[in-house]
Amino acid sequence: MKAFRTAPVILGLTTLAACGGGGSDAVPSGGNSQLGDAGDPGDAASEPAPSFDAASEAADDGTTATDAPNTPDAGADQQAPEAGAELSGYIGSGCTTAADCPFDGATCLTDGFPNGLCTQACTDTCPDQSGQPVTFCGKAADLPEAGSSFDGLCLSRCDFGYYPDSGCRAGYGCVKIERPFDSTVVKFACLPNRTSELSQCYYDLAARGVGFEPTVMADESPDGMPQLVCHVQDPLYLKSPVHGVQLRTSAGTATARVLASCPMAGAVVSTIDDVAPLGVVGFRHMGTYNCRVIAGTTELSQHSFGAAIDIAGFDFDDGHLWTVLDDWEHDTAAPQTDAGKFLYAAAHRWFDAHYWNIILTPNYNADHDDHFHVDLTQGSHFLGFKDGRYIGPAPYAD
Ligand SMILES: [Zn+2]
Repeated sequence: MKAFRTAPVILGLTTLAACGGGGSDAVPSGGNSQLGDAGDPGDAASEPAPSFDAASEAADDGTTATDAPNTPDAGADQQAPEAGAELSGYIGSGCTTAADCPFDGATCLTDGFPNGLCTQACTDTCPDQSGQPVTFCGKAADLPEAGSSFDGLCLSRCDFGYYPDSGCRAGYGCVKIERPFDSTVVKFACLPNRTSELSQCYYDLAARGVGFEPTVMADESPDGMPQLVCHVQDPLYLKSPVHGVQLRTSAGTATARVLASCPMAGAVVSTIDDVAPLGVVGFRHMGTYNCRVIAGTTELSQHSFGAAIDIAGFDFDDGHLWTVLDDWEHDTAAPQTDAGKFLYAAAHRWFDAHYWNIILTPNYNADHDDHFHVDLTQGSHFLGFKDGRYIGPAPYAD
């Protein structure tokens, strides 16, 4: 890496040439990043449309959201969680008799299940219902005796939107459980009389009053690169809205939730908390997790760790929209428009507050003309400038 370090301007040109303008997400190295070394061509990450989380109301089958985080997000209308309210009448709810569980195939288990458990037998997947936590078919052998006559039982996933203290009802802990007949599918679910297996980061995030669902992700590797491992630390689905601010795609479609490492989710919350008092009601992004290498290198992008998000713009409470694409003012540290000032000042506040370790703006290179790339590269503290200049063509002539 060191061999590539030369003057920043030269590096910037090299980066553009190397990437051919094809969506390069330059990510400065994690070491002693300063303005100069951020142009390291070895760190230029490609940005091929990081995925939206695939939020799905039917995510329990493990084949949608949680097992395939690269799937484009279709989920858009998940309701706001009713934090703290004890849910009733569905899988995972309390019960005394089956009459308390008004859904097809319902059973009320009471022996070994504190305050009863509405459930149903399953072998593979379980149905979800709007207004209730996502479900999962858990292996009955890992449940109390009362479940032993089944192959699997439907359980609710842990969800800090509905149960802000622990993600589960009282008497239940958030632990991993396998699907019956498929030990490769493992999820967090609410199990009776168990101690939670979640790390402290999840509880710290819950204490900030945001809804999320802890998840389990298998490590994976980019195609043809088995030596590289994409691992997400403490993965979760951060649920929209976040403190009243809706998560949206860059086109403005509401996104039900976004996949993130737990530390990254915390940074997103800080970022949203920063702009919400300024009237922001919609946070437009272009994706988070994507297991891939930086273009032209064998180095993994921070998107590979669920530790980066691409921010496209902001909707305001009076209806206007400011985007990085249309409103960023290039080549100046003194933007003139209200929108340009807002975007410039926001990026600098996030930098000064250390919400993010790396912030790449359109001033970094042409491939960031339509978004801020922000990530948690350890050891870095970088805001996307090169000598205070935007380098390369301005493809949108702004
Ligand atoms: Zn990015």
